[in-house]
Amino acid sequence: MILGSYRIEIPFEELKGYKRILIQLPSGLKIYARKIVDILEEKTKADILVSSDPCFGACDLAVDTALSVDADLLLHFGHLPIPNLKIDFPVKFVDVIMDIDVSSVTDLIISGVTEKNISIVTTAQHIRYLNEIRKNLEKRGCRVRIDEGDGRIAQPGLVLGCNFSSVSRDAGAVVFVGTGTFHPVGISISTRKPVYSLDPISMTLTSPNEISTMADKLIRRRFYLITASRDAENFGILVSKKPGQNRMDVALNIRKKLEEMGKKSYIIVADTIQPDMLRDFGKLDCFISTACPRIALDDHEMFDIPILTPVEFEILTGERSFDDYIFDSIT
Ligand code: SF4
Repeated sequence: MILGSYRIEIPFEELKGYKRILIQLPSGLKIYARKIVDILEEKTKADILVSSDPCFGACDLAVDTALSVDADLLLHFGHLPIPNLKIDFPVKFVDVIMDIDVSSVTDLIISGVTEKNISIVTTAQHIRYLNEIRKNLEKRGCRVRIDEGDGRIAQPGLVLGCNFSSVSRDAGAVVFVGTGTFHPVGISISTRKPVYSLDPISMTLTSPNEISTMADKLIRRRFYLITASRDAENFGILVSKKPGQNRMDVALNIRKKLEEMGKKSYIIVADTIQPDMLRDFGKLDCFISTACPRIALDDHEMFDIPILTPVEFEILTGERSFDDYIFDSIT
């Protein structure tokens, strides 16, 4: 099924026998929700319910919602499963593909990437094109790595905003195929390698210098926020209920360290961490977010007080030096 620029591959055969299905869509697909529901109802004859809650990744499976409405299946669109996330509820994933012009992508890499030994990575929307890109590049003299990641990564070459383990540490440079700057900047900070960012929609290639400038800017901002938290006395430790973002163990560890430092802390649990809701808690000096790393790293301007990652908390306490700054990741 083609909807806008998305190719949506619903495994209708696998949906037989389910009576009530809750579907979960990322925000870019919600505009097509009614159409998707109509088609699913017609093909499956099941009750189709749609979740309106935000959905940013496969870390965020709406199992509680599915149980609350007596659904017998959760149908999750647009992300690949997280292999090491064990869920005790029937969940199926729907591939959502954004087609790309592999031959133009290859040409752009050949003309714009200096290194001939490269690691290529991408996000779920383009993952199935990686092998074809590799074959084309190898025919033209490149050595291309598409590596497996750790247990959080479903397919070789896939990167998540919280996990760059599929980037080959042996390659001379990394080519990220996808949109946005968060992933390439994260890869740059995590690997210290030259990173190119190839946007397959606009067909533009951002150079390692530009990515590195963005990474430096992010690190300077993080340094400022860590420094601004030096005198904090009251901390809010944020924990997400989302199954693949829940790092309660990390939160408890942070609270223990704060206690030892004579600081006061409160563990605040939420499904989606929203700055507005946190304002109700009155005066706190600093948040430490154990949820999705993007909340602290990407959305920090939405918060009234500094919001740090667990790694940055280690720098704040002096356990880690700033020279050892690493991107927060979930494994
Ligand atoms: S934790 Fe954040 S970056 Fe990781 S999969 Fe979930 S939404 Fe994406």
